[in-house]
Amino acid sequence: MTGRTTGHITRRASGRTAGNSCDVLIVGGGPCGLLLAALLARRGVDVVVLERRRAPSARSRAIGLHPPALEALRAVGLDEAAVAEGAAIAVGEARGRGRRLGEVTFERAWPQRPYVLSLPQSRTEALLEERLAELAPAALHRGVEVTGLDADGGDVTLTARRAAPRGAAGEAGPVRWRARAVVGADGSRSMLRDLAGIRARRTTYPDTYLMGDFADPGADGRARIHLEPDGVVESFPLPGAVRRWVAHTGTAPSARTPADLAAVVRRRTGAQIDPGTNTMISAFGVGRRTARRMVEGRVVLIGDAAHEVSPIGGQGMTLGWLDALALAPLLEDAVHRELRCPLQQAPGFRELERARLRSARAAGRLAHLNTALGRPLPLPLARARDLLLRGLLRTPLRHGLARAYSMRRRSGIRAQALPPGSLPPG
Ligand SMILES: Cc1cc2nc3c(=O)[nH]c(=O)nc-3n(C[C@H](O)[C@H](O)[C@H](O)COP(=O)(O)OP(=O)(O)OC[C@H]3O[C@@H](n4cnc5c(N)ncnc54)[C@H](O)[C@@H]3O)c2cc1C
Repeated sequence: MTGRTTGHITRRASGRTAGNSCDVLIVGGGPCGLLLAALLARRGVDVVVLERRRAPSARSRAIGLHPPALEALRAVGLDEAAVAEGAAIAVGEARGRGRRLGEVTFERAWPQRPYVLSLPQSRTEALLEERLAELAPAALHRGVEVTGLDADGGDVTLTARRAAPRGAAGEAGPVRWRARAVVGADGSRSMLRDLAGIRARRTTYPDTYLMGDFADPGADGRARIHLEPDGVVESFPLPGAVRRWVAHTGTAPSARTPADLAAVVRRRTGAQIDPGTNTMISAFGVGRRTARRMVEGRVVLIGDAAHEVSPIGGQGMTLGWLDALALAPLLEDAVHRELRCPLQQAPGFRELERARLRSARAAGRLAHLNTALGRPLPLPLARARDLLLRGLLRTPLRHGLARAYSMRRRSGIRAQALPPGSLPPG
């Protein structure tokens, strides 16, 4: 490590003033960038995060924290805080045409934490941001958008523009940062990926969905997947007696409002939800994008910048956190040893890339299957699907499903490694 501030002016060991510089610069202060920054700060690495948003996002996208995600939070001392705030989903129930087809539970897959924790992404990000502020108070720079990258020897220079303070006209002007390594955690449309010349394969699905959060007076801690002939309806408990509903809305959606979603849910499942209690509504389409490489020169991609998977199945954020967990020790080592070679030649980076892209492809295939299973089907085919699923959920194969959905297979984390944790309040 060369400099010791997570601020603007760093005096390097040589005595040379380096301007805006740090050892590891992370572009993007979403969940993956924030987690990696906290992991690096814990390891004593001089890290800076540049985030273009001036304020945290209030959007609640990811809600499902799988056991490996809790393990990632444990690495920065946040698992218990998340568990205290979240709602445990211990059972996933499949239903079709008004009947229960079967259920999946997680005791075999994760005996120590037999549940998926539900917590809105905005809360998860807030916990991470607070933790980072404790570990490295000056690390997060908001309102700074990265626009250019220039690799030079063993260092990288990033050009960025700083947004003007609220109320002021125009921009406050360009800024430059120099770093030993740069991490692109800037989401699925990653500018860093383009700047590093890394190509990505993109698939856009025809499916669209409407999602909303509503009061859930009879909260019972169960996730429900209704596989209906007109399209899937999914619902998940959220903390504070709230439930998230997601409905497939065909390929050219006209449904947009809480009343639209309540009507779709009632028509397909018979469940009554009160549009007046809605706190979030969002229509979205889905896609899948995988970068050809995660490591190029002094740049590493993580999270959605490296691999976006369809959110139907909800594993994208956990995947990105597993990237961060694997990457932090490698970056620490590269910085400590002052390695100046392209990172793909530094110890462990190629292996990381192979393992993490393999894991992302597996998650992508599962999300693809989920997306396909939830499409509208003619009645005879819907009946056959129900029959097949009911049969499957009666066999021991359901434990394999629980392992796949709770990310036991792809996390590389042994279930027994988790600390005993009691069920959080539902
Ligand atoms: C509807 C929906 C439901 C989902 N549910 C789940 C779930 O239950 N579980 C799960 O694990 N995942 C889920 N996901 C996926 C999850 O939300 C993403 O995988 C996760 O947000 C990816 O995190 P990230 O940090 O890689 O990227 P992002 O969250 O996209 O963050 C990227 C950040 O980079 C910033 N940025 C971008 N460009 C620049 C730039 N040039 N300069 C500076 N900053 C920049 C952005 O402002 C943003 O803050 C869901 C996604 C959706 C859409």
